[in-house]
Amino acid sequence: MSLRYKRILLKLSGEALNGGDKSQIINPDILESYAKEVAEVVRAGAEVAIVIGGGNIFRGAASKSGIDRSQGDYMGMLATVINGMAIQSALETEGIKTRLLSAIKMEQVAEPFIRRRAIRHLEKGRVVIFGAGTGNPYFSTDSGGALRAIEIGAEILLKGTSVDGVYTDDPRKNPEAVKYETIGFDEVIAKGLKVMDMTAFTLCKENKLPIIVFDMNENGNLLKVVKGEAIGTKVS
Ligand code: UDP
Repeated sequence: MSLRYKRILLKLSGEALNGGDKSQIINPDILESYAKEVAEVVRAGAEVAIVIGGGNIFRGAASKSGIDRSQGDYMGMLATVINGMAIQSALETEGIKTRLLSAIKMEQVAEPFIRRRAIRHLEKGRVVIFGAGTGNPYFSTDSGGALRAIEIGAEILLKGTSVDGVYTDDPRKNPEAVKYETIGFDEVIAKGLKVMDMTAFTLCKENKLPIIVFDMNENGNLLKVVKGEAIGTKVS
């Protein structure tokens, strides 16, 4: 099968895992559907790395708990490992080989992040899940995704969300909002559009790593994106 992108980094939000239902952390149907989508692209021959957020469990910056920011950020990073373990398990249920690599050492549950090892896993057809973001407070998992994508030489950062691309305005609030098929990094900044946080976005721009924002909840979309079909919005 001809693929447009051979090595990808898929950034998934942690928050999406509960399907908007705050009474649960992980919705098993969503987890299974993500795993099935990823399994499909692995079987098609793509090398897949995943960074998953932790927003369904804990967000350092946004927490109103009175917890110190750095402390809260570390809690957020640990949350991403929990989600990483969940997606690892779901992928294994689909028969996909995986490795979870953590930026914070916790050897009983994850390998430590070693760049060359991550690349080797990908070459062997294993899905590599990067846990604990960048390993540093004051960053986001979008930044972790951008950083790891660059480090492993991914051709594209795929941001799987619940919206199908980048719009002129928030499509949930403004029915007149129009979707961009493609847009330049500079135009995103000039128009003040939101694709990722600025740290993550700048990392992509400076290292010429294109981003595709697409709807991860639409079955088959991930494979279409990897094949090069015009799904979502490509920022380059
Ligand atoms: N975080 C961090 N450094 C990182 C990545 C994540 O401190 O490199 C913390 C931060 O507190 C963040 C939380 O982990 O709020 C969860 O990640 P994020 O908010 O990016 O998750 P998402 O929005 O994708 O669910």
